[in-house]
Amino acid sequence: MRILVIGSGGREHALVWKLAQSPHVTQMWCAPGNAGIRQERLARNNAPVQCVNLGAEDLPGLKSFAREQRVDLTVVGPDNPLALGMVDLFQQDRLRIWGPNRKAAQFEASKVFSQRFMERHGIPTARAGTFADAADASRFAASLGGRCAVKADGLALGKGVLICRDMAQANQAIQEVLVQKAFGGAGANIVIQELLEGMEISLHALCDGKTAKLFPTAQDHKRALDGDLGLNSGGMGAYSPAPFLSAKELAAVGDSILEPWLRGCVAEGIDFHGILYPGVMLTQTGPKVLEFNARFGDPETQVYLTRLENDLAELLSASIDGTLGKMDLRWNPMPSVCVVMASAGYPGGYAKGKPISGLDEAARLPNTKVFHAGTVRAGDQTVTSGGRVLGVTAWARDLRAARDAAYAAVKLIRFEGAHFRRDIAAKALR
Ligand code: AMP
Repeated sequence: MRILVIGSGGREHALVWKLAQSPHVTQMWCAPGNAGIRQERLARNNAPVQCVNLGAEDLPGLKSFAREQRVDLTVVGPDNPLALGMVDLFQQDRLRIWGPNRKAAQFEASKVFSQRFMERHGIPTARAGTFADAADASRFAASLGGRCAVKADGLALGKGVLICRDMAQANQAIQEVLVQKAFGGAGANIVIQELLEGMEISLHALCDGKTAKLFPTAQDHKRALDGDLGLNSGGMGAYSPAPFLSAKELAAVGDSILEPWLRGCVAEGIDFHGILYPGVMLTQTGPKVLEFNARFGDPETQVYLTRLENDLAELLSASIDGTLGKMDLRWNPMPSVCVVMASAGYPGGYAKGKPISGLDEAARLPNTKVFHAGTVRAGDQTVTSGGRVLGVTAWARDLRAARDAAYAAVKLIRFEGAHFRRDIAAKALR
C-alpha cells in the first residue's frame, strides 16, 4: 500500500510513525512533513518516508501528486483541508482518501451547525443560543448572568472561544467577535453557551458512516502555563487514559453522545468517515459536549497511537469501507504521556531556527518516542520552525512512571527558550 499523509505537526508524525509499522505499507510520503517524519522508515522494507514540498491546503497540487504517484490511500491530519473539501475533491477522481467529506467536516468547521445538530438530536450539551445580532446575543448572555462561552462559528486556529464570567466580559466578547470581527468571517455568527464547570476530557471515536468505535479517554492541557494558567494554546500535553471514568462509565458517556449523533447523521444524510472528537465536560448533571472536532486531536494522537495495538492502515481502510463493525480496537494497558516542548513566546509570537540538541540521546530511551512538530533540517542540524516544537511521549506500567519517563526525556533535549508545562497528567495523579 502506498500512503500519503497530509500535514506537518506532531499528530502527523504520530500517524506516520504508526502507519510505518504496518506490513501492508510499501511506500509513504508526507506533505509537507517535518524533520522527524523524514527520519522514519517503513517496517516492511526499511524504505524512508519522503517529505513532499506541498502545503496541506494545496488541494490541486496534492491531488496531482496522489494521481502521479499512484497513491493507494491519502490520510488527512489537519482540519483545514477537510473543511475545504479535500475528501470530496479526491473522491471525484476515485482517489482513496481517509477523512470526513465537506458536509461531515461541518461538525468542526461550524459551531452553529454543531450546536443546532446537538439540539435537534438530543445530544447532551450546554444551554446555548446562536446569534448574528449583537443585541440579541447580549440579551441571551444576560439570561445566563454573563457566565458564558462566546464562540466564533468558523475555524479560528483554536482561538475563537472567549470565556466570560460577568456581563462586562460577555459584552466585550460579543463586540470583539461579532462587531469588530476579531476572527474575520469566522465570527459572522456566534454560539453562546452557558459556562459549564467540571473536569474536561477528550473523546475520540473512529467512524465508518454506520459504526463509531470509541477510544479510551485522554486529557489535553490547553493553557500555556502550569496550573491551567496563561493563554489557550493548541495543546501543551496529553495523557491517556484519564482516570475520571470507569470503563463502564466511559461506555455510558460514549453511548449518550454517539448513539444520537449517529442516528442524526443517518437522518440528515451525513456520511461520516473519520475521527469524531468531542470535547466533553463532566458536570454534576452529567457529561455535556462543548464542541465537536472532525479529526484526530493534537497531542491526543501522540498518546493514543503509542497505545494502539491494531494495524492503523487496516483501521483506516475499514473506516473508509464501512467495515469497522467487524473490528475490535485493542489498546496497550500501559498509560502514555506526551509533554509538548514549545518555542519561547508560544502561543504568541516566537523565533525560529533554534538548533535542537539531545534528540539522539532521547531516542535511545526505552518506551519513549519524540514526535516532531515545528522542526526542519538546516544543514546537519535539526532546528525549530514552529510554536509547538516536539511532543515527548513515553509509556510505562502506570501513569506516574509514564509521566516520569516523559520528563526524563524532556530533560535531555535542549533548544534556546524551550518552554513546557511541568504538570502534565498532574490532575490524574493528585
Ligand atoms: P472549544 O474549542 O469549543 O472546545 O472551546 C475551547 C475551550 O474553552 C474548551 O476546551 C474549554 O476549556 C473551554 N470551554 C468551551 N466551552 C465551554 C463552556 N460552555 N463552559 C466552560 N468552558 C468552556
